[in-house]
Formats: sequence, C-alpha cells, structure tokens
Amino acid sequence: MTENTTHRTPRHTTRIVLAERPYGAPTAATFRTEDAELPAPADGELLVGHRYVSLDPYMRGRMSAGKSYAAPTPVGDVLPAETVSEVLESRHPDFAPGQLVVAYGGWQSAAVVPGAHARAVPENGLPASTALGVLGMPGFTAYAGLAEIGRVRAGETLVVAAAAGPVGATVGQLARAAGARAVGVAGGPEKCAYLIDELGFDAAVDHRSRDFAARLAAACPDGVDVYWENVGGRVLEAVLPLMNLYGRLPVCGLVSQYNADGGAEGPDRLPGLMRTVLNRSLTIRGFIQTEFRARHWDAFQREMAALVGDGTVKFREDVVDGLGNAPQAFIGLLEGRNHGKLLIRV
Ligand code: NDP
Repeated sequence: MTENTTHRTPRHTTRIVLAERPYGAPTAATFRTEDAELPAPADGELLVGHRYVSLDPYMRGRMSAGKSYAAPTPVGDVLPAETVSEVLESRHPDFAPGQLVVAYGGWQSAAVVPGAHARAVPENGLPASTALGVLGMPGFTAYAGLAEIGRVRAGETLVVAAAAGPVGATVGQLARAAGARAVGVAGGPEKCAYLIDELGFDAAVDHRSRDFAARLAAACPDGVDVYWENVGGRVLEAVLPLMNLYGRLPVCGLVSQYNADGGAEGPDRLPGLMRTVLNRSLTIRGFIQTEFRARHWDAFQREMAALVGDGTVKFREDVVDGLGNAPQAFIGLLEGRNHGKLLIRV
C-alpha cells in the first residue's frame, strides 16, 4: 500500500494477487486484494484503465509451480490476464489517451504496460469486449486450430467438448459453416439446448448424464472424424472408440484435469489409447495458439468479423460485475458455472 490510495488518482490500482499456490481447486485463500499506486509510464509505455478483464482456464496452470509452456506466476504477483482498457497516458507514438486497446493488463483496475505489447481494439461495429472472446484469443484458437490441425471437411463429423464456451462454440459453428456435422458436449440441459437452438449444432450431449457414452455414440452414427479436445477425462474416453480412420484430434485443452494436482486417478489407459491411434491411423496434435499467430492472425480478424457480422458465428458473454468477484467467477469457470466467454467488467 502506498500514498494516495484513498484519493483514487488515475494511477491508483486495485489488484488481485496470487496469495498462495492452490493444491487442487483454487479457493478464496488463493487470492488477495491489494491497493497500490502505479509508477508513471516510461518511454514506450502506456497507463491504461481496464474496462474488461478476461478470465480463461489457462490461468489455473499459471497458479501452479509445475513445468508448463509458460512460466508460473510468482506468489505475490498480480494474476495475468488480457484486458480491454482505455489509454489514460501514452508514451508510445501509436497510442493516444482515450483509445481502447487490448493489453496484457492483469487482474486489476489499471496497469502500466509496454505499448509494443498492446493492440488497438479493432473498429468493426462489434462490442469492444469481443476482442477478448470470439474476435480475440479464444476465437483465434478455434480458427487456427481447425485450419492447421482439425481440417474438418464437408460431410465429416466433428465432436467438441466445453462446446458452450468461447473456443468450443466457435469450433462447432466453423465446422457447420464448412458443411460438417457438429456435435457438442456440454454440462447440463440448458447449455445443450443453447447449442442446438441458438448455435445450430446438429446434436448436443450432456457429459454429466449417466449414459453419456451411449448418448454420444447415438449422436455420431457415422463415427467421429475430428475430436476437438478441450477437456480430457471421461469425454475423451467416450469419444476414442468412435474415431474413424484418419481421424484428427487437436489437443487444445484438458480443463477437467487442471485442478488435478495429485495426478489423475484410475487405471492406466495409455495402452488402449495407443492401440486406437495405431488401428485407426489417428493424428493427435497438441498446440498453443501463439504458434499460429504470425500465419493466421490477420486473416482471422477479417474473416471472423465478417462471420460474426453476418450471423454465421454467434457468441455469448458471461459478464460478471466488479473485480472483487473475479476469484469466485474463476473458481466457477473450472466447474462449468460460466455460460459463455467469462469477463469481469471493472
Ligand atoms: P470455457 O468458457 O469453455 O470454460 C471451461 C469449460 O470447461 C466450463 O465452462 C465447463 O463447461 C468445461 N468443464 C470444466 N470442467 C469440466 C469437466 N470436468 N469435464 C468436462 N467439461 C468441463 O473455456 P474456453 O472456451 O476459454 O477454453 C476451452 C478450452 O480451450 C480449455 O481447455 C482451455 O484451456 C483451452 N484453450 C487452449 C488454448 C490453446 O492455445 N491451446 C487457448 C485458449 C483456450 P461445461 O459446463 O460444458 O462442462
């Protein structure tokens, strides 16, 4: 805590830091709220005030110390997040006060960020918040992962889990637009109805239903050509026997495992997995979306804005008001309590 916090100067920030590393699911003790005064921006930097903070499943990985594709957040540091923010002070020639930018601003109300890592919110007639969802990182993940790995074709069947979230919903709708059959897996009847009635999926299956595997098989009478892996666990187990020859499995996320610090329990199913990979000539390919940025980002921005604009791709946001509600909202994200792209309105 430093001076001036009571006066809320433009450089004041309320921030949520990692108080301790969670073991298993995060709890209230994982997070701590602090007030601080930010430094003046140096050359090349921006002072930004956040409008929206994006909450995404990958943040659970940053809370743990284990080896991953990105470094863990140090205990005591602000939790990382992309934000839609207003430029308050600019010392970078590309940005001016009042402009809206996407920045890596973290779980807080304001930040000083390098201008080189910020980008202007595109003027495409859509709400600025979409720059964190369907027209941002999650939408891009769907677009690039399908183009590079899924490569779904007309007449094929694609199954996607966490289908009501920003990645899964976009994957399913792009598959439909390509002429494929889209089958969504989601938690609960409300999300399943949404997939069919609002997004036009061909079928939706509730992964919490007792006879989930049988229902999924019934929804895929011609087998599965692309399984878009977002969750792992029992959804993967149910899909594997349905995979067709030359099937593709983009491994995008394993959200059912993110809280499993002690390792997943149960029998070793690896030999069965490898047998299926061999017998059906499957391609399993993990990816992190940043790998495809240089090749696909510009085309994604153009094409997705057009697809959203003409209603081919619909999106849903789950907006929670107030930074103080971010910890509970994030805990809920890993339990499926969100419905749509989870955002904190600051
Ligand atoms: P979502 O908004 O879809 O949120 C996660 C969803 O996962 C929950 O709403 C819940 O939906 C589902 N879920 C949680 N626990 C389980 C479980 N035990 N079994 C089945 N489903 C579960 O998130 P996103 O769309 O932002 O992300 C989807 C996936 O994509 C995540 O795995 C994420 O890590 C990954 N990702 C990967 C990227 C990459 O570069 N590789 C980039 C961006 C995201 P429901 O209620 O339907 O079960």
